[in-house]
Amino acid sequence: MCGIVAYIGRKQAKPILLEGLKRLEYRGYDSAGIAILNGSIKVAKAVGRVSVLEELVDRQGGFEGSLGIAHTRWATHGGVTDRNAHPHCDDPKLGHGIALIHNGIIENYSVLKKYLEEKGHSFSSETDTEVLAHLIGELYRGDLEKAVQAALREVTGAYAIAVVCNKEPDVLVVARKGSPLMVGVGKDEYIVASDQSAIVAHTTQAFTLQDYTVAKLTRDSFQTNTVDNVPVTAEVRELEYDLGQIELGTFDHYMLKEIYEQPHALRMSMKGRIDLRAGQIVLGGVSTFARELARARRIVFVGQGTALHAGMVAEYVMEDLAKIPTDVDFASEFRYRNPMVEEGTVVVAISQSGETADTLAALQEAKQRGALALGLVNVVGSSISRETDAGIYLRVGPEIGVASTKAFLGQVAVATMLALFIGRRRFLSADYVRELLEAMHRIPDHIEKVLQQSDEIKKATAKYIDRENWLFLGRGYNYPVALEGALKLKEISYIHAEGMPAAEMKHGPIALIDNGMPVVFLATRNSQYEKVLSNIEEVRSRGGHVIAVATEGDESIRKHVQEVFWVPDVPEPLQPMLTVVPLQLLAYHAAVMRGKDVDKPRNLAKSVTVE
Ligand code: GLU
Repeated sequence: MCGIVAYIGRKQAKPILLEGLKRLEYRGYDSAGIAILNGSIKVAKAVGRVSVLEELVDRQGGFEGSLGIAHTRWATHGGVTDRNAHPHCDDPKLGHGIALIHNGIIENYSVLKKYLEEKGHSFSSETDTEVLAHLIGELYRGDLEKAVQAALREVTGAYAIAVVCNKEPDVLVVARKGSPLMVGVGKDEYIVASDQSAIVAHTTQAFTLQDYTVAKLTRDSFQTNTVDNVPVTAEVRELEYDLGQIELGTFDHYMLKEIYEQPHALRMSMKGRIDLRAGQIVLGGVSTFARELARARRIVFVGQGTALHAGMVAEYVMEDLAKIPTDVDFASEFRYRNPMVEEGTVVVAISQSGETADTLAALQEAKQRGALALGLVNVVGSSISRETDAGIYLRVGPEIGVASTKAFLGQVAVATMLALFIGRRRFLSADYVRELLEAMHRIPDHIEKVLQQSDEIKKATAKYIDRENWLFLGRGYNYPVALEGALKLKEISYIHAEGMPAAEMKHGPIALIDNGMPVVFLATRNSQYEKVLSNIEEVRSRGGHVIAVATEGDESIRKHVQEVFWVPDVPEPLQPMLTVVPLQLLAYHAAVMRGKDVDKPRNLAKSVTVE
C-alpha cells in the first residue's frame, strides 16, 4: 500500500528517488510525486505510473538537489487526482516550506482539519495527509523534528512519513506507526523506504524504525527519539537481499516469474525443516512452544485475501493431521467481533508482507486476550513477525507481483509442516509422518511437471477468454483452492469469478449456469472424487463447459469434461500445493490475453497497510 522513498546525502536525489519509486511501484501506483529541496522546494506530481512522473520531471527540469522525498500512492482519502497525489505541503501563508509524504491513514483528520481551518488554513486536496502537513507547519517553531513529534502526538491512525522543510536544508525527518519504514545507512547518505527493495542497490546496512519513533537524519548523522522525545537506539543490521531476486530476468511479468519460481521457493521453505532420515519436522521458530502447541485447545488462523485461503487449507490440515479444533477467519472480522479467546487458544496470523494492517490488528487483539500468537510471514523483521510470540518464515523470496502465487504455496507448506509438527506430538504415527514428509519432499518436482503444461493451459483458456463469468468448484482440501483460483482470475483479468464448495453450487449458484459457461473443477482422486464427478455432470447437463484439474492417469475423466490439466498423484492433504498451480497459470494467461497489466492490476496494492 503506497511506496515511500526519501534521500539525504551528497549525490543527486532525483535519480535515486525515481529508481526507488520504480522498485516500490508494486505497492501502489495510482499516482506518484516527488519533491526536491534546493533553496526552494520543487514539487511534481502526476496521476498514473512512475514513468508518467519521470516524463513530467524531465519536461519541467530543475530537480537538482541532494535532499528529496518521493511517493507512489494507493488512494484511501480523496480521489486519484494530481492534487491528491503526494507530496503535500503546509499552508503556503506560513512560509515554512514543509513537504511531506505519507503511507497510512490519519483517522482523526477531520477534527484536525476543522481546528486548522478555524486557524485560517486553507487546503488544496481532499487527503488526510495534507492535514498532517498543515499541522506540522502550524506547530513549527524552528525545529522540524520537534514539530513532527508534536504533530504526531495529536494524530491517531497509521503512518510512515518523510518530511522536509525549506528552512532546514540539511535535515530529513521520518517517522512511523503501523506502516512500514526502513532507513538505509550509507556513507554520508541515508535512503529511507517502505521496504528494502529500494535500498539494497545503495547500501546493505539498515535499520527498521520502531512504532512511535521519529528519526532525524542529516547527511552524516542520525538520531532516533520517540514522539515524546525519549531517545531510542536503532539497531543497524545487514540486509540479506540479492538484487537478482527482484529483477525480472527473462520473464515478461513478475507473476509469471514467481509462478515458475515455486519449485525452488518450496525447496527453500522446506530446507532444514524436513528431516527425512529421522522422519521429523524441525521448526526452530516455534520449538520453544512445542508443549503449548501440542496442548492447544483451539487454533485460529487469521488472514485476508490469498492468505485467508491458505488459512482455510491450514484449517483442514490442522484438524486432519493434528486433531485440534481449528477455525479460520478474516482478520478484519475476528478483530472487531469481540472474539472468544479461551485458555489454550493459539492464533496464527498469515501474511506475505507481515504488514497487513487487518491481520496485525487481529493479532494484537488476540494477544491482548491471552492467546499464544504465531505468525506465518514472508518478510523477515516485518511488523507481524515482531509482534508474535513465535513464528515460521515462509522463505520463498521476495514476491513482487501483486497477485500472490509463491507466497500462497509457502503459506500452505509451512501450515502443513506446523500441522505435522504438532500432530507428531499428539496422535500421528511416525510412519504416516514419514510417508507425508517423503511425499512433500517430491512436491517441487511435481510442480515442475505441472508448469510444463503452460501452453495447453493457455490454449484452453483462449477458448473461454470472452466469457465474463466463471465458476471454480472443489471439495475438501480443494475448496480453498477453488476460492484462490477465482480470486486470481478476478484480480488480474477483471473477469467475474466465484469459488465455492462444489456441493454448494446446487443450492443456488447453479442458476447462473448457461450454455458454454466455463466451470473449473478441482477433480483430483481423493475421498470426494465420486461426488465431484456427480457435480460435474450436473454442470454439463445444463450446458456448462467443464475445465478439470485431475490426477495424472485418470483418463476416464476425459469423457466428462471439455478440458483437463493434470497434476501428479499425492496424498490428499498435500494436493492444494499442486492443484493451485494450473489455476495460477490460467489466470495469468487470461490476463495477458485480455491485455491487462498483470503485475499492477487496477485498484490493488501488494500489501494492504490500512484497515
Ligand atoms: N491516506 C493517504 C492518501 O490517501 C495515503 C495513502 C497511501 O498510503 O498511499 O493519500
